[in-house]
Amino acid sequence: MKTKEEIQKLRQDIIDVCLSLLDNGLIVRTWGNVSAKLDDEHFLITPSGIKYEDLEPLMLPVVDMNDLSYEGEFKPSSEMLVHKAIYSSRRDAEFIVHTHQTYASLVGTLGKTKLKVEKNNVRIAFPIADYALPGTTKLAENVKKSANLFPETKSIIMSNHGSVSFGRSAQEAVNEAYRLEKASKAYINTICRTQIKPATDEGYSSYLENGKIVYEKADTPNRVKQIHELIYAKRSDVKYIYHIRSEAVLLISRRANHMKPLLDDFAQIVGTGIRIPTSEGQRKSVKKTVNAVFSYNDGAYCLGESRDEAMACAIVLDKGCLAHIAATRFGKGNFLSYFDCYKMNSNYRKNYSNLSHLVK
Ligand SMILES: [Zn+2]
Repeated sequence: MKTKEEIQKLRQDIIDVCLSLLDNGLIVRTWGNVSAKLDDEHFLITPSGIKYEDLEPLMLPVVDMNDLSYEGEFKPSSEMLVHKAIYSSRRDAEFIVHTHQTYASLVGTLGKTKLKVEKNNVRIAFPIADYALPGTTKLAENVKKSANLFPETKSIIMSNHGSVSFGRSAQEAVNEAYRLEKASKAYINTICRTQIKPATDEGYSSYLENGKIVYEKADTPNRVKQIHELIYAKRSDVKYIYHIRSEAVLLISRRANHMKPLLDDFAQIVGTGIRIPTSEGQRKSVKKTVNAVFSYNDGAYCLGESRDEAMACAIVLDKGCLAHIAATRFGKGNFLSYFDCYKMNSNYRKNYSNLSHLVK
């Protein structure tokens, strides 16, 4: 049984971990969640939909592992089933971090069952849990299976989604997450022969003010302005367009083909698939339910109701492009089914249409 002071410290530990993972880029926005075990039947977890910067210790709900009921004003993260699965199967788990960290997520799109690493003659393997839709019992079962099959590892990659890392303390769990990311990055860089980093380099963005288009840069070329005009004309819900010209997005924009989602957050925020147009096909490239529009050899335009939303789309699109590059160079990618993408996308639109930070 933990004392009041110990519980208070764990509440603060969770917030400190969220903020440090944000600072170091393992968590972006609120895309992830963190928990701490209180006893065999209860754990604390980050609430759903609250920015980590706004979190206070008493805002963290306490979840009952028996029936998933919770105490507290705020609803627990929708990924609490995954946390419960780990606490109930691994005695060495007292603290868990779940992130959508870039390189582990990329490894989880290649259709592999584990990531093997050898360092100083020590071999370790990170299991890759089978795919299931986020928030489902099936996903928790898949993670549990990996936790049981690999009793020596404290990190599990979740196919097409992200990863979970755990330990006996906050520090141990965080160290595990970094160790996994380092190993994943080394793997992606060598096997996939790419050094491309996550980025959101900005080209020519714009917003709507009193029905008029305002360009962020005075020297926006006319050919770019035409695309902005086309998007605002076809999408009345769009108020901000962020032009992303990162290395990964530029590379993908040079290929005229169809981009299917490899990651859950892509299906949720960007859309169920994007066609990369040839220079002549721009007109048809603006779709009602897809929040990014590629421009041949010039990156992509990410759409939102605000700059914040459009930026969220740009971050997710960039990671999606990195995943495509990695999968292409690896030789295969484990693409999500259209049915799963459709389900996630429509669910996301219904629940979080104006709250782009709410991806789990
Ligand atoms: Zn997640």
